[in-house]
Amino acid sequence: MIYLQGEVAYDAPAAARDGPRTEDTTMNGAEKEAAKSAARWWRGNLHTHTFWSDGRAFPEESISWYKARGYNFLGLSDHNVYQDDPDRWIAETGRERYFGEYLAAFPDARTRTGAEGIREARLSTFAELAARFDEPGRFALVPAFEATRTVKYSDGRSHQVHMNVVNVPKLLPSIASPDFVRTEDDVPLPRFVARHARETAAFAAARGERALFMLNHPIWQWYDIAPEVLAETPEVRFFEVCNNGTEIAAAAELPQDGFDTDRFWDVANAFRARRGLPLLYGLGGDDTHVYRGEPHGGMLMPFNAWTLVRSASLDGDSLVAAMERGDFVACEGLEPEDVSFDRATRTLSVSVAAKPGAARTVRFFVSKRDFSETPVRTIAIRPAAEPDSAVHERTVNVYDDRIGREVATFRGAPGEAVRASYAMQPDDLYVRARVEEPGQTLCTANLHPKGKLVAWTQPCA
Ligand SMILES: [Zn+2]
Ligand SMILES: [Zn+2]
Repeated sequence: MIYLQGEVAYDAPAAARDGPRTEDTTMNGAEKEAAKSAARWWRGNLHTHTFWSDGRAFPEESISWYKARGYNFLGLSDHNVYQDDPDRWIAETGRERYFGEYLAAFPDARTRTGAEGIREARLSTFAELAARFDEPGRFALVPAFEATRTVKYSDGRSHQVHMNVVNVPKLLPSIASPDFVRTEDDVPLPRFVARHARETAAFAAARGERALFMLNHPIWQWYDIAPEVLAETPEVRFFEVCNNGTEIAAAAELPQDGFDTDRFWDVANAFRARRGLPLLYGLGGDDTHVYRGEPHGGMLMPFNAWTLVRSASLDGDSLVAAMERGDFVACEGLEPEDVSFDRATRTLSVSVAAKPGAARTVRFFVSKRDFSETPVRTIAIRPAAEPDSAVHERTVNVYDDRIGREVATFRGAPGEAVRASYAMQPDDLYVRARVEEPGQTLCTANLHPKGKLVAWTQPCA
């Protein structure tokens, strides 16, 4: 049984859709040939927590709930731990309710009596969980963990840096090391993030694996990662454009005219595109910590933000390969029907199916080649509640409207399908699209799209 706070208005998850997707042109010739006529959409969430760290569910519960909801892949991304220790036990104390529900649903779970007569349950490993839940063509558990770090500066500032390492079934050596400490001092953030990305790539390459490295919730909690950090770290190809748990207490001090993760994304990509760096792609993720309506409000609950990937096969390597091609969509309550980019005409096309009563809109955004790298203004933030502390002191740059400019809007009438396309102009650095529908998911944090369900395509150029 799973408890959600209130009913979510979006579509019941349609499992991956059948049918050929031959219109796609985001791949190169060989890749396209290989994927031709077999590719389909798979729904998944690569940001989930369990009792392996601070999530409040056993991994079997988390997986079975996502699977029952129609998800095709899931990454359990616990903090600084990979689920490969076959001798990890947790005590029942303070978790009585969870133990009761877990043991009722999974009576084969292993328990023992620990110190002082307290019952303990063993946490299942990734290998055990995959063996239990994986189903070819229906569900795949993908290895993951969340590298969870903090950088502190001598001026008093403290920045949290959280990075998901996906599809590598082992903790990064630097984090597994007995010398590991969560906090480092005075490392410039671009260097710090790039170092982890490079370690991930080298570690996976040495093991013959295909890793996905993602910078998580950059604006959590106090705008801890600025877009300029991602403007100069081409090693980072992915970030969370939509994190269900993102909040930023400083939002009241930021401009209210659309200053959100979309704007963040466009700033990073405008700079990257101008420098010839690969465009940054955006995922959606639940960052699930609570499953039963515990405190945290609607945040950090399951089934709010996800990633829809188009791939011929449902396995970690194929999913990561598709995402490296940009063949995926970040979703918060809404999924497009089709997305394609025609390289010859540089046209991005998006179609959205009709839904009874729902008015759906497709918006196209670009950044212009002549944008100014000089901020229009710089906002200094020091939280009002912390007048004497520099811990969360930040500066946020606001750039001109040649970054992230909305250039085309297609509005469907209620109940109408929308087919929209935009041909890039010579002065566009890239184009991306956002699909919207009035509604409200459980994501209500600051800087989140309000009053709408949203799907984000990847930027194309
Ligand atoms: Zn995190
Ligand atoms: Zn997390």
